[in-house]
Amino acid sequence: MRSIRELIRDNIRDIKPYASAREEFNGLAEVYLDANENPFPSDFNRYPDPLQKKLKKALAKIKGTKTNQIFLSNGSDEAIDWMVRAFCEPKQDAIIYNPPTFGMYKVVAAINDVEIIAVPMNADFEIPVEKTLAQKGKILFICNPNNPTGNQQAKGTIIQLIENFDGIVVVDEAYGDFADYSLIEKINQYPNLVIMQTFSKAWGLAGLRLGMTFANPEIIDYLTKLKMPYNVNSYTQKEAIKSLSSTKKDEEVALILKEKKALKEALNQLEIVEKIFPSAANFFLVRFKEAEKVYQKLAEKKLLVRNQSYQINCKNTLRITVGTPKENQRLLSELKKMS
Ligand code: PMP
Repeated sequence: MRSIRELIRDNIRDIKPYASAREEFNGLAEVYLDANENPFPSDFNRYPDPLQKKLKKALAKIKGTKTNQIFLSNGSDEAIDWMVRAFCEPKQDAIIYNPPTFGMYKVVAAINDVEIIAVPMNADFEIPVEKTLAQKGKILFICNPNNPTGNQQAKGTIIQLIENFDGIVVVDEAYGDFADYSLIEKINQYPNLVIMQTFSKAWGLAGLRLGMTFANPEIIDYLTKLKMPYNVNSYTQKEAIKSLSSTKKDEEVALILKEKKALKEALNQLEIVEKIFPSAANFFLVRFKEAEKVYQKLAEKKLLVRNQSYQINCKNTLRITVGTPKENQRLLSELKKMS
């Protein structure tokens, strides 16, 4: 198995990062004339902490990690890009992924001119372990629970992939707050494991743009060296810290899960619904007799869901997010009219 040092791109291994003004001085100064800011106080006249120390400290406590195992970014989308840029040599290396899954892995690889190896999931949306491991690449992206199918892989499947893949395994747990398990504590055991989470789903802060990456300090160091100095703005840092000490997220997740159960039961009663796929997330992949028609009719009523029918093994499916009780009732009443 290759070490992280062997896996990282040659030009990144010994790169000297840009040293921002605030990083060079450790501590609190009384007068700041070091960063060419406007000196007149407002909420935003100063640059944010480039290393997000306060936020990481609060997060580490909640997540049970050390601060040097955390990298923060402008959404997880940004972290996916940094992972590919850090480890994959354009025109030479490859990433591996198992469609149908989140589209950004493929897009980011394409932007970076990195080969994309697709090993499709089976019809039950399980990852074929042997076929996946037979591929050679720098990064294997696993979305767990998976978007758009909603299912979570068996824990043993993912562990088997982490233990046997000769490269980095990114487990994207964007929907982990709704799921049965997280593999975050496994970063202590596996140096090649990277866990990604986000404030965009359960935390209800998609507009803030804050993604979390958890991994061993060596990988975190590389990402930190590469990132733009002020990639997480000061408003985001402040609001995220506030949210961490509130119980709002846990209460809302409980409500969403309750609604999810009711929505599933109601959808099951509808004649136009053929199948609701098992979900460990805050949405369902639903197979309809005629998904396109349903999609169009809902859109006419200004009700938006996501058509996934173009994805492999997803013919005639729509992805439906669990909304508020009122929103779900409105969805059901429109669907009933079509039955
Ligand atoms: N991963 C998955 C699986 C997602 O579904 C999404 C959002 N659609 C993201 C990552 C990106 O999240 P963020 O808002 O943190 O960039």
